Amino acid sequence: MKVLVINSGSSSLKYQLYDMTDESVLAKGLVERIGMDSSILNHKPTGKEEVTEVSEILEHNTAIRKVLDMLTDPEHGVLESVGEIQAVGHRVVHGGEAFKGSVLVTGEVKSEIRRLFDLAPLHNPPAIMGITAAERNMPGVPQVVAFDTAFHQTMDEKVYLYPIPKVLYKKHHVRRYGAHGTSHEYVSKAAAEYLDRPIEDLKIITCHIGNGASLTAVKGGKSVDTSMGLTPLEGLMMGTRSGDLDPAIVTFVMNKEELSLSEVNSMLNKHSGLLAISGSSSDMRDITDGWEAGEPNETLAFEMYEYRLRKYIGSYAAAMNGVDVIVFTAGVGENSAIVREKVCQNLTYLGVELDKELNKIRSGDPRRISTPNSKVEVLVIPTNEELVIARDTHRIVQEEK
Ligand code: AMP
Repeated sequence: MKVLVINSGSSSLKYQLYDMTDESVLAKGLVERIGMDSSILNHKPTGKEEVTEVSEILEHNTAIRKVLDMLTDPEHGVLESVGEIQAVGHRVVHGGEAFKGSVLVTGEVKSEIRRLFDLAPLHNPPAIMGITAAERNMPGVPQVVAFDTAFHQTMDEKVYLYPIPKVLYKKHHVRRYGAHGTSHEYVSKAAAEYLDRPIEDLKIITCHIGNGASLTAVKGGKSVDTSMGLTPLEGLMMGTRSGDLDPAIVTFVMNKEELSLSEVNSMLNKHSGLLAISGSSSDMRDITDGWEAGEPNETLAFEMYEYRLRKYIGSYAAAMNGVDVIVFTAGVGENSAIVREKVCQNLTYLGVELDKELNKIRSGDPRRISTPNSKVEVLVIPTNEELVIARDTHRIVQEEK
C-alpha cells in the first residue's frame, strides 16, 4: 500500500510518500509560502535529483494539486498515476479528549477537529484545510488523522488537571494535553526494541528537544506525564518559548508594559527562551558556539536550558519512582553531543554514566551512549513522526477493509 503523509501548517505543507510493503520513502517534500506571491515547492524523489519550483500557490488545495502533479511528473515523479495512492495520513496537533489514537476521517471527526480550534487556533485550522484539499484532489481515498496529543491521553487525572477552579475544566476544557505524542510514542517503542526488552517492564524518559521541546515519562509503554500543557508553552525552556514560569508574571507584565493579550502571548511564545536570554539566536548551534567562545549571554542561555532540562528529568524519575532508559531525540537531542554530555554529567545520582566517545559519534541510527556499567541506558534515537502516521494510516485502512 502506498500512503501519502501530509503535515499542513498555515503557510506550509510537508509531505512524504511511503511504500508500506517495506516502509520505504518514495519521495518527500515541502511547499512553503502558501498564500504569498512566490510559493516554493521543494521535492525530493528517492534516487532522483531534488527539484525546486517557484509558482503562485494561494491555498492548500492548489498546494496538494501541485504535489500530486510532481509525484506523477514523468521526470521527477515516482508514480504512474495518483490512483496508486491508497491512503492519506494527516498530522493534527490537537485532538483534545475526544481522540485517544489515530482515526479514519469522517464528517463527525472533522467537526470535532473544528470544535478544537479554540485550543489550537494556529494549528488545527490548517490541518482541516489539508484534509479538505486531499479529499477534493483524491476523492474516495481513505484519510486518517493522527494527533499530537493522543499518546498523552493515558495521563491520570491528578497529572492532567491544573490546581485551579474545576469549572474551567468543565466549561472550557482547561487541562494538560501535551504534544509531540507521535514522537514520544515512536522513540519509546524504538528504545524497547533496540534494547530487546518488553516495553511493559520499562520506565523511560523521552526527551524530544528541537526548536519546540518536551519531555515525557513513559511507564510500561504509556505516557504518564509530559511537560507541555494546555498549550506547547508549558515545560522546558525552548528556542523562543519560555516554558514554565510564575503565572503571575503574565498579569504583572501586562500591567507594567500595557501589553494586550496577543502581545503577551507573542512575547512568551516567540520572543522568549534561548532567543531572549542570548539576545542573539534561538538556534542551539549558535548558542553553543557563543558558549564555547565565552560569550556571557549565550553561556547563560546554555546553562539555563541545560539546568531546566535536567530538573525535568529528575522530576520524571521521581514521578515514576526510577528510570531505566533516557532517550534523546529531535534537532538538539539527536545532534548536540554537548547538551547530552552536560545533562548527563549531573545525573550520576541516578546511576547515569555517559560514554563520552560514543556520545560524540554522529549517526542517523538508534544508538547507546551510556557505558555498560551505567544503571540507566542512555540512547539517541532519531525520531520519525511521519512513519508513525504512515503506519497508523496503513493499519486503520487495512482494518476497515
Ligand atoms: P527540530 O525542531 O527538531 O527540527 O530541531 C531544530 C533545532 O535543532 C534547531 O533550531 C537547532 O537549535 C537544533 N540543532 C540542529 N542541529 C544541531 C546541532 N548540530 N547542534 C545543536 N543543535 C542543533
